[in-house]
Amino acid sequence: MTKFTDLNLNPKVLKAIEEAGYENPTPIQSGAIPAALEGRDVLGIAQTGTGKTASFTLPMITRLARGRARARMPRSLVLCPTRELAAQVAENFDTYAKHVKLTKALLIGGVSFKEQDAAIDRGVDVLIATPGRLLDHFERGKLLLTGIEIMVVDEADRMLDMGFIPDIERIFSLTPFTRQTLFFSATMAPEIERITNTFLSGPERVEIARQASTSETIEQAVVMFKASRKDREATEKRRVLRELIDQEGEGIKNAIIFCNRKTDVDMVAKSLKKYGYDAAPIHGDLDQSQRTRTLDGFREGALKFLIASDVAARGLDVPSVSHVINFDVPGHAEDYVHRIGRTGRAGRDGKAITICTPRDEKALDAVEGLVQKQITRLENPVKPAARKAAAPAEDSTDTAKPKPTRRSRSKPAAQKPDTSTSPAEANPVVEVEQPQQAPVQAVQEKPARSQDRPQQDVGTGSKPNKSRSSRGRRDDRRDEKVVGMGDHMPSFIALSFDERRAG
Ligand code: AMP
Repeated sequence: MTKFTDLNLNPKVLKAIEEAGYENPTPIQSGAIPAALEGRDVLGIAQTGTGKTASFTLPMITRLARGRARARMPRSLVLCPTRELAAQVAENFDTYAKHVKLTKALLIGGVSFKEQDAAIDRGVDVLIATPGRLLDHFERGKLLLTGIEIMVVDEADRMLDMGFIPDIERIFSLTPFTRQTLFFSATMAPEIERITNTFLSGPERVEIARQASTSETIEQAVVMFKASRKDREATEKRRVLRELIDQEGEGIKNAIIFCNRKTDVDMVAKSLKKYGYDAAPIHGDLDQSQRTRTLDGFREGALKFLIASDVAARGLDVPSVSHVINFDVPGHAEDYVHRIGRTGRAGRDGKAITICTPRDEKALDAVEGLVQKQITRLENPVKPAARKAAAPAEDSTDTAKPKPTRRSRSKPAAQKPDTSTSPAEANPVVEVEQPQQAPVQAVQEKPARSQDRPQQDVGTGSKPNKSRSSRGRRDDRRDEKVVGMGDHMPSFIALSFDERRAG
């Protein structure tokens, strides 16, 4: 087996690796590092969790340790699809370069240009950026890319999903053709293949088998849930979620709760908060400082429930997550593997629970096909009697005052009604998150209205029943799909007419 000491890395980098507690290089590291140190291009086909970040940062630091940066002319560039990933890569540089004198700057949206300009002016060895923000700086004439010796594209398949490929091509064309390129993608879609054929020269191809299996340390279960009435689905589903959390009792140390839609991320977070659970949302529409605060809180154990979209949580490295709950079955089976891989890390035990409505059964079949096992079925934790009792007064479950027992689980701050909504939450700026979510984004601009108009379970007042339930029905219909039209059709066709008009 290859050892780090066999890899020709700078001794100061080796020291930092030892301090990080790594014993041996992972397969992507032993495959990519030697070629990268020779100055060759690398095409790494690997996903997050394989140690791919170190597979490019370690050789970069070793190579950049010689030489000095000039003002406004960074020597290397790492492009990441999201701000969180960029920040995570920057953290990796800090860890591995702590004994080497290198300067770095992080160019991400949501942070003031002024500080970033000042860092670039001083000269940086490593520039870590999201494509849009990098081009903004370039267009303002603050940055020259002609000094780039090494360029990294991380998570290229996500860049493709998010519509960044034209930006990436442009950035490639602004850098010298003599640069070394280290290119990483979890999959090789035709468009990615085209880019690598155009911009990489004779790359060392290192492919790490796609993770189709889930860790044995993760206990998986699914709750089959059918609403008593279609217009009550959202409310009842959130109740199932609360019951699931309660059932886990002390065993649930913390959890990431995944939703397929950004609207649901907000809604579920607000609902849980209202019931006294320590919960906060994270998705692409929230402003950067809020996202960072939420993530830091979750990492440090100050926040118990992180409600997330796939893109926001992708690649995030939180070492100890006891539970993953899929509020929705993911539309892409591979996302299931990514999601539940947030728990059961490094040999720890973890639990993944998925809520599946009849509409999601096909997606669940795809998940079970991919992971090649049948996921244990759990009974709906909301007992039939309770369901019946709750049925006549639709909102009695969700609008009732939270029970004191539940409140007692939370921190005092979380018990307040949700008055802490940030401007970004109240009036989200629509950001490209995932193409398949695009039709829903039109709807996602609506939560602004939901602030003045109480939702079923996040509402504050007790309005007359009639108007409440008719509102509830409209809200629920927004996310409702028209069924019976086959699988392969443009996604906007699957939306109800109300929703299309709303867009
Ligand atoms: P990544 O795939 O870059 O997101 O890395 C996933 C996790 O693996 C991170 O927490 C790294 O700190 C950790 N890691 C990276 N390389 C190694 C290694 N050689 N041994 C143990 N852990 C590692």
